[in-house]
Amino acid sequence: MSTGPEIAIVGSGPSGFFAAEAILKSDARPRVHMFERLPTPFGLVRSGVAPDHQQIKQVAKVFDKISKHVDFSFFGNVEIGRDITLAALRARYDAVVLAYGASWGAPLAVPGANLPQSLTATAFIGWYNGHPDFAGLTPSFDHETAIVVGHGNVAIDIARILLSGHARLAKTDIADHALEALRHSRIRNVRLVGRRGPAQAAFTSAELRELLAMPDVRVVIDPAALQFDAAESAFLDLPANAVVKRNVALLQDALARPAGDTSKDLHVDFLASPLAIEGSARVDAVRFARNRLQGPPGGKTCVPSGDEFSIPAGLSIASIGFRGRPLDGVPFDGRRGIVPNFEGRVDGKVAVGVAPLYVAGWIKRGANGVIGTNRADAAETARSLMADLQAGLWPVKTDAERVALSMKQDRIDFAGWKLIDEAECRAGCEAGRPRRKMVDIKAMLETAGGTDFTGKLVTTG
Ligand code: NAP
Repeated sequence: MSTGPEIAIVGSGPSGFFAAEAILKSDARPRVHMFERLPTPFGLVRSGVAPDHQQIKQVAKVFDKISKHVDFSFFGNVEIGRDITLAALRARYDAVVLAYGASWGAPLAVPGANLPQSLTATAFIGWYNGHPDFAGLTPSFDHETAIVVGHGNVAIDIARILLSGHARLAKTDIADHALEALRHSRIRNVRLVGRRGPAQAAFTSAELRELLAMPDVRVVIDPAALQFDAAESAFLDLPANAVVKRNVALLQDALARPAGDTSKDLHVDFLASPLAIEGSARVDAVRFARNRLQGPPGGKTCVPSGDEFSIPAGLSIASIGFRGRPLDGVPFDGRRGIVPNFEGRVDGKVAVGVAPLYVAGWIKRGANGVIGTNRADAAETARSLMADLQAGLWPVKTDAERVALSMKQDRIDFAGWKLIDEAECRAGCEAGRPRRKMVDIKAMLETAGGTDFTGKLVTTG
C-alpha cells in the first residue's frame, strides 16, 4: 500500500493509462486516482480506433493489467470541470496529470459547413464507435457519393467504413445504430480529397495499403498526380522519406491494377481545397479550388490555381486533424490546441497546498502519433513529475492538509466497468461479434452497479 504522493490523472485514454503505469513504477510509492468523464475507460481505444481494427484495441489488455495495481483507482462518470472543479482536485492531490486528449475535430472554415450532413470526423467516428455524445447523430447514406476531406489516417478509417459492406462491419464492434444505418447505405463513391499532393499526404503505408486493397472497390486516381519532376523524385529517394515513397508506390500500383468487377469506387483526389459546402436544406455538393504546389520538395505548400469545381454529394466529412480544448484555470495555446508545457510540466512555482499540473498525450503534444507513441510521451511526463518531487519542488500533503473531495454517488469504479465490459462482450458473442457496445449512460450505470430510477448507484460506493 502506498505511503507516498497521491496523483490524480484526468482522462483514461492511452496517455492516461501509460502515465499511470510509469508513475506506479516509481520507488516513491505513489497512489494514482484516474478520473474519466464517461462511465467507460480507454478514450480513443474505445471510441476512436476503427471498429474493424480489433487488433489495435488489444492494448486494452495492457490497461487492464495497469488497473490491477493495488495503488490504482478508477473513477468513471466523473467529469473534472463539471462534477469536480480542477481547484478541488489540486487541493486534494499532490500532483495532477491532465491526459484528457485532443479529440475536438475542427469543422471546415468554409460557407455551408454547418449544413445538415456536413460532419466533423469527431462526430462521425464517435457515432460509429458508440460514443454517447454522438449516438443521436443521423448521418445520411442516401446519396451515391460521400466526400471525406483530409489525407490522414483518420480520413482513411472513415473512407474504409463507408466502403465496407454489411457482412464486413457485422464482424466488428461498430455501434448497433451505425451497423443498421450503414446496412442501407447507397454510397457507391467515396471521394478522399486532400489539399496537397501524394508526397505530402499524412497517411501511413499500412493504412493506405489496407484501404487500396479493399475488395469490391475500384481505385480511381488522376495519373498526372503521380508524376514527379526530377527534384521531387530525388527527394522521395532520400531514406527519411521511405514512408512517402512507399505510399506513392502503393498509389501507382492501385492505378495500374486491371479493372475488376467492382461495385464501389474510391477516388483519391489530390490538390483540392474545399471552398464551400453547397446546398439549401442539406449538403448537395462540395465546391473545391484546384491547387498547385509551390516551394522546395519537403516544404511544399498549396496555392489556388484559379480553377474551381464541384462534386455532388450527400455527405461531407471533414477529417482535418484534432485539437484540444481549454480547461478552466489551465494555460492554453489556442493556435496549437494544446496545454503549453516543458517535458510535461505546466506550471512554474505553485502556491502552497495547490498541486502542480502536468500533461501527457495529445493535450501535451498535439494530435499526432499512434497509440504506442503515448507510452514514451507519458513516461517523459512521469519522469518530470518524479524528478520535481525528488527536487522538493512540491511537497506530499499530510492527511490533515488534504481537502476532502465531495464525490458524486453515480460514479463507476473499475469493477463496475468490468461488468459493462462483460455484458457487452456477452451480447457480442451471442451475435458473433467482439462486443455490442452500450451507448446509453443510464444503461451503463445500471449494469455497473444497479441504479435506482434517480440514477444514483445503489450497490457500489
Ligand atoms: P493528420 O494525420 O494530421 O491529417 C490531417 C489531414 O488534414 C492532412 O491531410 C492535412 O493536410 C489536412 N488538413 C488540415 N487542415 C486542412 C484544411 N483546412 N483543409 C483541407 N485539409 C486540411 O490527422 P488525422 O488523420 O486526424 O490523424 C491524427 C493522428 O492519429 C495521426 O498521427 C494519425 O497517424 C493517427 N491515427 C493513426 C491511425 C492508425 O495507426 N491506424 C488511425 C487513425 C489515426 P496538410 O498536410 O496539407 O496540412
